[in-house]
Amino acid sequence: MVKRNLRIANIKAGYLFPEIAKRRREYEAAHPGAKIISLGVGNTTEPILPHINAGLVNGAKRLGIAEGYVGYTDEGFEELRKRISDVFYKGAFAPDEVFISDGAKCDIGRLQLLFGPGTKPVVQDPSYPVYVDGSVLSGAAGCWQGTGYKGIAYLPCTAENNYFPDLSQLPRDSIFYFCSPNNPTGATANRDQLTALVKAATEKGSIIIFDAAYAEYIRDPALPKSIFEIDGARTCAIEVNSFSKPAGFTGVRLGWTIVPKELKYDGGESVNADWSRICGTIFNGASNIAQWGALASLEPEGLAEIRRLCDFYLENAALIRQTLQGLYISCIGGDNSPYIWAYFPVRDSWEVFAEILEKCQVVTTPGAGFGPAGQSFIRFSAFGHRGDVEEACGRLSKLK
Ligand SMILES: *Cc1c(COP(=O)(O)O)cnc(C)c1O
Repeated sequence: MVKRNLRIANIKAGYLFPEIAKRRREYEAAHPGAKIISLGVGNTTEPILPHINAGLVNGAKRLGIAEGYVGYTDEGFEELRKRISDVFYKGAFAPDEVFISDGAKCDIGRLQLLFGPGTKPVVQDPSYPVYVDGSVLSGAAGCWQGTGYKGIAYLPCTAENNYFPDLSQLPRDSIFYFCSPNNPTGATANRDQLTALVKAATEKGSIIIFDAAYAEYIRDPALPKSIFEIDGARTCAIEVNSFSKPAGFTGVRLGWTIVPKELKYDGGESVNADWSRICGTIFNGASNIAQWGALASLEPEGLAEIRRLCDFYLENAALIRQTLQGLYISCIGGDNSPYIWAYFPVRDSWEVFAEILEKCQVVTTPGAGFGPAGQSFIRFSAFGHRGDVEEACGRLSKLK
């Protein structure tokens, strides 16, 4: 018989969201007819707006005519790579530093192939699960040890440190997965914090993998939308980003990764050249239909639609935040991010999750599922139809 990959066995008790889905099914089975509203998962709910959708439709039509047909696009349409650089990075990157992907999560998984043995993964605690589970799958981290995986450094981000880690704890020669605006906490790092992050990574010989999937939700003009707004980031950072959350492309699948040419390994070799090699070897490029949709989203009408869609979810976030504050539940996020991170002191987050499901028929996400420092927190997601969010907010008053 074929042996199982033991790294898969090392991943703890299934992924967080299947566990939540299971508990929801159990509740529904016990309470037939209950109308459950989910503020749990980070999946978009609103239709793709017309200009961007027309880009997708026209892309599909092009594939049906001889003059329009295109096959493999390798690292992406040159035009799209250039446009991403112009729109999001003031043209600071050459097209061959912009790699089009089928999504940020997919690239976060593949990026782990770049780094040799002895590279320590580091995460903000709590964190988006793929940084940790992907590290276990790639072999960079070992088995679960009670409060975390062997080999991963967890840097707590809690109320005590304003949800920004103590950078003196960053290990040398490490890969630091850093997400801002953060999923799950909704905290967004400011310029001074990101400057300190780049300085620490440079001093420690570490690489930052900066996840900017929620950058378009930033409304405070003083907050950086990219790690590359910080001097020195080009020699210590990779940025992953995605059209999923700003344009509703969660099911369309399109993202990008910036790997600057200045970024080097300890032997002086180019990370950019290796990434190009990996993309050509185990990835054959993203859907060209999705890329035409992305090009439409980066035209002025498309950018206005991105703004409108993010504003809609941010209005949901404001409703949820105001509701929680009205109940004297302390929370952060929801202003420059679609997540609200609510604190229930000394309580177990799965127990609070169960209470909210029981009393309000609202599904949330228990903070403990994102890492040890998430204990006693609940993540509320602002991805939902307005009517559902309003109804959920009304029901949350039962938590009083
Ligand atoms: C949703 C999300 C992504 C996006 O992943 P895609 O694969 O592009 O859909 C990336 N990072 C974080 C933190 C996310 O929440």
